[in-house]
Amino acid sequence: MSFLTVQNLYKSFGGNRAVDDVSFALAKGELLALIGPNGAGKSTCFNMLYGILAPDKGSVCLDGRELIGMKPRDIWRLGVGRTFQITAVYASMSVVENVQMALISHHRKTFSAFTRAARLYRDDAMALLDLIGMKDQADRAANILAYGDLKRLELAVAMAHDPALLLMDEPTAGMAPGERRALMKLTADIVAERGVSVLFTEHDMDVVFENAHRVLVLNRGQLLAEGSVDDVRANPAVQEVYLGGGTTFGGGGDHA
Ligand code: ADP
Ligand code: MG
Repeated sequence: MSFLTVQNLYKSFGGNRAVDDVSFALAKGELLALIGPNGAGKSTCFNMLYGILAPDKGSVCLDGRELIGMKPRDIWRLGVGRTFQITAVYASMSVVENVQMALISHHRKTFSAFTRAARLYRDDAMALLDLIGMKDQADRAANILAYGDLKRLELAVAMAHDPALLLMDEPTAGMAPGERRALMKLTADIVAERGVSVLFTEHDMDVVFENAHRVLVLNRGQLLAEGSVDDVRANPAVQEVYLGGGTTFGGGGDHA
């Protein structure tokens, strides 16, 4: 049973067909990678799934509901979360407070003179920090975190909203190869533990192949291949696109 169904999605910018008849499905608890060279249309797809960009044509159904035409906020309320390419945390707050703020927002509590904000959702926030392996950094200021830790915190903030579907457009951008691996492994663990569905993009093919349950390959706005990691890796058309773009599988090279 598919949880997210994308059908015949199109988006052009002027004469440029950024997304050209893309259809795919995502199951519950599936970690699906969307890969492709720069300019392939990955971010454009994400932006349409999230309601930031209106498609020219097409349908995006989440659990039977049409998302096209809905505002990002309403899509978010249906349980679609996202991590940002540019990290969005409150620098002046501590690590645990950032997660508490997300939990407060999720439960739509508001601050008042009577709210003991410092205690609100602290235990839940600590549980999420435990999930991402940052419990020991709970009381550090967010603005002194290493970049990799900030990205992990971003994941905890996204998880605070208890999403059913998480959209991650280049979540590991700017990270060192070892950190990329760790963050995606962590994401895979969270998918397994919480049954979240995830659609993600990632430049490092090793990271994709190690973690994705299934892979979609986009090229010039069109789906070039779709299948298991082994199928996609062995696909000559995919190899050609990547070799043509100067990227080889297995090199772990970053070509952002
Ligand atoms: P990817 O994320 O795979 O690198 P994008 O979705 O960002 O690719 O871009 C796909 C194509 O659409 C590119 O040719 C890009 O230049 C173009 N594009 C993306 N966003 C816009 C925009 N807002 N206005 C005009 N062209 C855009
Ligand atoms: Mg992009």
